[in-house]
Amino acid sequence: MTPIKILLVDDERDLLLNMQLALKSEGYEVITAESGREAVALARGERPDLVIMDGMMPDMDGFTACRHIKDDPATANINVIFLTAKDMTNDMVQGLDSGAMDYITKPFNYDELFARLRSFQRLYTYQKKLSAMVDFSSAINQLDIRKLVDGVRASLTNIIQVELFSIFLYHEKRRQVELIVSNHPYLVDAGELELDIDQTPLMRDVVEQKRIIHISEFSKSPYLTCQREKYRDDYAIGVPLIMGSRLIGVMNLNGNSFGFFNKPDFMFIQLAAEHIASAISNAMQYRRIQEMAVTDALTGVFNRRHFFEQLNAEWERFDRYNSVLSVIMADIDFFKKVNDTLGHPCGDMVLANTAKILKSHLRKVDTVARYGGEEFVILLPETTRQAAAMVAERMRADIENQTVMWDGKPVRATVSMGVADAAEAEMASPDFLLRGADQKLYRAKEAGRNRVVW
Ligand code: GH3
Ligand code: MG
Ligand code: MG
Repeated sequence: MTPIKILLVDDERDLLLNMQLALKSEGYEVITAESGREAVALARGERPDLVIMDGMMPDMDGFTACRHIKDDPATANINVIFLTAKDMTNDMVQGLDSGAMDYITKPFNYDELFARLRSFQRLYTYQKKLSAMVDFSSAINQLDIRKLVDGVRASLTNIIQVELFSIFLYHEKRRQVELIVSNHPYLVDAGELELDIDQTPLMRDVVEQKRIIHISEFSKSPYLTCQREKYRDDYAIGVPLIMGSRLIGVMNLNGNSFGFFNKPDFMFIQLAAEHIASAISNAMQYRRIQEMAVTDALTGVFNRRHFFEQLNAEWERFDRYNSVLSVIMADIDFFKKVNDTLGHPCGDMVLANTAKILKSHLRKVDTVARYGGEEFVILLPETTRQAAAMVAERMRADIENQTVMWDGKPVRATVSMGVADAAEAEMASPDFLLRGADQKLYRAKEAGRNRVVW
């Protein structure tokens, strides 16, 4: 426990010095004041954890000083214990009414005082943890998964006494865990990390048994994998992150100064795990819904609405900075025949595969979307028409050369494409750009299909 800081207030100088010595010898940090007025000022300036104050003092009495301390939001959380004369019931009542947490009657013996202080310290530690827990909860009250993860990294160690932690998501179907946040120096910059659950026996057991697993002699346990250097000390804990009845991940804790976790720590670990599980689960749900809102369900590429949003944003950039911007329109040739001869489900598969090929040729900044039935549109920022045409030609050739299997037979598709750029023909709006690409697509169809016109 960190030593608490005590402000001692008494107008009897001898008693004050005496107490100061005694408390210091017990390891407390002590500051002193000789009047209520001075106590209020010191409370504000020094922010002690506890004030032990005489009730009766000239100048400003202890009860008034206590009220001042409690009324000021900056000092309201400081705990106050009164020293009152024996049998002065009125003093005790007045003291408690003014916001004090306890009182000690004079004359007192030091054993009693120290016992009270130890009890205070337990309460104080608990109070601190609870308020850290509240801060933690609000830090991770985030729907954005990145911000959530940053909140966990910044504040988890404030509520759990632990040096190292990592949190992995569990993917049940793949039987893999995926790292989403940790404070391990060697993991922070590691980027993406996925492990088969069988490669990590501790997490595997947490996942399979859905309970906290703690090991006190990690290096001698069967959980030791080849990565011993990851662990700071021999005490390790794996905590299941459970939302409802579903296990969504595992939190690993390792390295605390005691080499063990005591009971209150365990309580906070469990509490933290519950908060983290529900926050992660909400954030992932939110991300899924956001993705669904911009994605075409059949092909997995963006939908039309998202395409237009991107187009308008890129058009503004083009307009303002006079940059380049190209669009490719692609339409599958004789697609109706695929549906008519092989069936609609086969057509769906061809569509999905075509989308996949288109996507594989693009950069991160490009946007490919399903424009209509078997038509796709691709937005290429900072790309000239000539460069876009080269991309289109690679896509066209790739689609022509790939087959998908249906009923044991290979199915082949081809596409026609039109490429336009924003600088062409002094285009006045995104609509003109799309129309330009569409007209060229039409010419590609007219000229015999399976070709790029730009
Ligand atoms: P062209 O070479 O001139 O483009 O001929 P086409 O047959 O590809 O063009 P057309 O516009 O006549 O037919 C497009 C077909 O695409 C008709 C429609 O049933 C089919 N289609 C549209 N959406 C879907 C879909 O989601 N799944 C499947 N399987 N077919 C679709
Ligand atoms: Mg077509
Ligand atoms: Mg069409």
